[in-house]
Amino acid sequence: MERLEIMGIFGSKEFPGTGSFPHGIHPPGNKFYSAGAQVEVITVPDKVVLPLLQHIGAPCEPVVKPRQTVACGEMVGEGQAFVSASLHTPVAGKVKKIGVVTLPNGRHLPAIEIKTEGEQQPCNELWEEMTSTDWSLSTIPDYSPDEIARLIHAAGIVGLGGAAFPTHVKVMPNDKRLIDSLLVNGCECEPYLTCDYRLMKEAPHAIVAGALLAGRAVSAKEIFICIEDNKPEAIEALELATRNTVVQVAVVRTKYPQGSEKQLVKAVLNLDVPLGGLPSDVGVALSNVGTMAAVARAVIKKGPLTHRIVSVTGGGIVTPKNIFTPIGISMGELIDFCGGLTEDAARIIAGGPMMGFAFSDLTTPVTKGTSGITILTHAETASGEETACVRCGRCVEACPMNLVPTRLAMAARYKNTALARQYNINACFECGSCTYVCPANIKLVQLIRTGKAQVAAAMKR
Ligand code: SF4
Ligand code: SF4
Repeated sequence: MERLEIMGIFGSKEFPGTGSFPHGIHPPGNKFYSAGAQVEVITVPDKVVLPLLQHIGAPCEPVVKPRQTVACGEMVGEGQAFVSASLHTPVAGKVKKIGVVTLPNGRHLPAIEIKTEGEQQPCNELWEEMTSTDWSLSTIPDYSPDEIARLIHAAGIVGLGGAAFPTHVKVMPNDKRLIDSLLVNGCECEPYLTCDYRLMKEAPHAIVAGALLAGRAVSAKEIFICIEDNKPEAIEALELATRNTVVQVAVVRTKYPQGSEKQLVKAVLNLDVPLGGLPSDVGVALSNVGTMAAVARAVIKKGPLTHRIVSVTGGGIVTPKNIFTPIGISMGELIDFCGGLTEDAARIIAGGPMMGFAFSDLTTPVTKGTSGITILTHAETASGEETACVRCGRCVEACPMNLVPTRLAMAARYKNTALARQYNINACFECGSCTYVCPANIKLVQLIRTGKAQVAAAMKR
């Protein structure tokens, strides 16, 4: 395999891929709103609401009852299925009730509400721990792969890039799927969001420690931290933090959706993940940079996942920020912490504009997968009326999965699940590139989402 040299901004690293992938788009990044905003720590909220399903897989089971007192970091929900993750409270307090919440993706879920009471662990202590340079890399060989997987499981860690797949499942030793390479994903290609960027800049040593631990758990022969070339300061921070370690920084080209799994495997390793397959089918494990920092804390400090960074950004927020926040705090409290909405705020999105979900209930809680809240203005959301497809083929040209989005959308419109399956609708990972480029303003990805739900319902029957 020819090895192409990709010139990084702060040196050169070799990897087999070209640093990019076929198709994709170049939407405006709009990272400027919050990229310069150093992570701020929010004060402990009066209450948290913790949905019992914050990950792909089975919901966890509550292990607390109303009126019970809980301590900071205590487990309140246990992930009993293999693909599930336990839940821990970020605050000390009293369980008020187990009610129901609706998340931005429309799912109604049972959730534990905890009223804050008693002595709290200040959030800034946790953040100082995260940003420390003292992550004692020399102790990493002392942990066995099984122990690392067990501690990750106990900490309730899921992928913090948005997909929220339980991390212990990815790192469990598996004789049938041997892993050669670990790719740590710091691309953050979704426009507006900067939480991963700030973490890479401010807590690179925690990321490197987590990458070494996860790499040891899966017995990876090589570990790359992958960053798009539009983030020179994050590249520099990680070049310094990875010095004298086996972890390498792979600088890839800026393109959307560079951060999606299959596209990143292609860009860095020049491997094709088979249709319907997983990166592990070609010997690759992937995990987000935030997940790696959480792994370092879980293994070295024995701390559960209770906090994360959330970007609150866009033209519709008074002061865009990156906030280190307890999971379960309301989205509205984060918006208030940023000075509130501007007069021309038009749409609030959980996540970024390409893959996120619009919502309006500001009591909606932050979950483990909440990477950002993007607030767009009327000018930023303006789109014309939908017209008929002009068969320009732009959606086909944009699709990184080589699908034909216009046909998928038509199958969904006519509820033709057989046709939708024939066109591989489930290979669509809802990146939104097709919608972005469509000159007829057809909401292709929304139609495809509906089509996928139709297919799932038909298969259950
Ligand atoms: S069909 Fe799916 S994967 Fe392809 S561009 Fe559209 S949203 Fe992305
Ligand atoms: S981009 Fe829009 S108008 Fe062009 S072929 Fe696709 S659906 Fe039709």
